Amino acid sequence: MTGISSPQLFVDLEAIQRNFLAAKLIVGSNVEVSAVVKSDAYGLGIDQVVGPLAAVGCHSFFVADLEEAIRVRNQLAAAKIYILSSPKPSMARFYRKNDFIPVCNTLEDAATLVPRGCLYALNVETGFSRSGISFGELRTLIHCKLNAPALVMSHLACADDPGNSINSLQKNRFMAMCELTATAPRSLAASAGISLGSAYHFDLVRIGSALYGLNNASLDPSPFVNVVRLRAQVADIRLVRTGESVGYMGTFRACRPTWLGILAIGYSHGLAWSASNQLFADVGSHQVPVVGRIAMEYAAIDMTDLPASLRVAGRWVELLNERLPTELMARLAGTIPQETLIRIGTSNTRQYLSSYLKKQPLARI
Ligand SMILES: *Cc1c(COP(=O)(O)O)cnc(C)c1O
Repeated sequence: MTGISSPQLFVDLEAIQRNFLAAKLIVGSNVEVSAVVKSDAYGLGIDQVVGPLAAVGCHSFFVADLEEAIRVRNQLAAAKIYILSSPKPSMARFYRKNDFIPVCNTLEDAATLVPRGCLYALNVETGFSRSGISFGELRTLIHCKLNAPALVMSHLACADDPGNSINSLQKNRFMAMCELTATAPRSLAASAGISLGSAYHFDLVRIGSALYGLNNASLDPSPFVNVVRLRAQVADIRLVRTGESVGYMGTFRACRPTWLGILAIGYSHGLAWSASNQLFADVGSHQVPVVGRIAMEYAAIDMTDLPASLRVAGRWVELLNERLPTELMARLAGTIPQETLIRIGTSNTRQYLSSYLKKQPLARI
């Protein structure tokens, strides 16, 4: 079959807006919801995502690095932009000029940057043990009588697991450290942290996963709606005899005459090889299994149980949608949904669905 297209990834910008508003509802009007758009908005496209978020009342954004900060500033002149990676003192003037807010992860970061008149946030260490200023270092910093930070923040290690005692330990340490910085706004929770209750919300929550539809805290039902739809085209249909094996290493063997659909999607498009013989695809309203090893450019589905009219080369089938969520694909691949999302997002041509530019935007909060 000729004329077969690459897979297509649809990103629903209105769903991202809805997820922002859903988070606002959970935390209430006294808590700011900020959008984490690092790693190119989890692979979904920072340039496309920030405008629709601002349109529903998102005023602050967290990015990974300076390059991403510039991309957000190019679209949003007034947004607060926090940069998560450690700042470069040589860029102090540039930060100032663009009102960027670098996050200081060490005493040295703060000591070199703050005297140069930059806005800054402080990341304090409460139990993640990755980066952050210790209690003692914070004391030292306070003694230097620097300008107050724009935000004091820390990051929960186990928020996905509400019963984990590390959550309250981190919260208590965080509160103790915040006493030293008195008036500065505070932020502890990311997406999963917002479901731990208002004691974890402080002044600002930083959500990434939830915006992109992931339900890290396994809330039932999820307050967040699906954002991505991935589809691939059936390149070929073949009838395989009983006993024949399918694909590399013959990991699937036909136990009946089997109609295979050969999909034009493989691990080069972000499908995890480790999900071979595990995934499902939606063909119309039917769901069928992916069979055999996932190859670089191809994967096979078993179409035997489908009505013959659906076994047509050129038909599109879906691998991610609201019935086949990213969480399921990740679990079947043995990984976490964020990794799956980034892989799929960065490996495929993205198309954006939105009423954002065409219709009335959703109500601002
Ligand atoms: C990535 C990140 C977040 C967002 O986490 P989600 O769980 O995806 O909401 C928040 N804060 C920091 C410091 C991060 O690195």
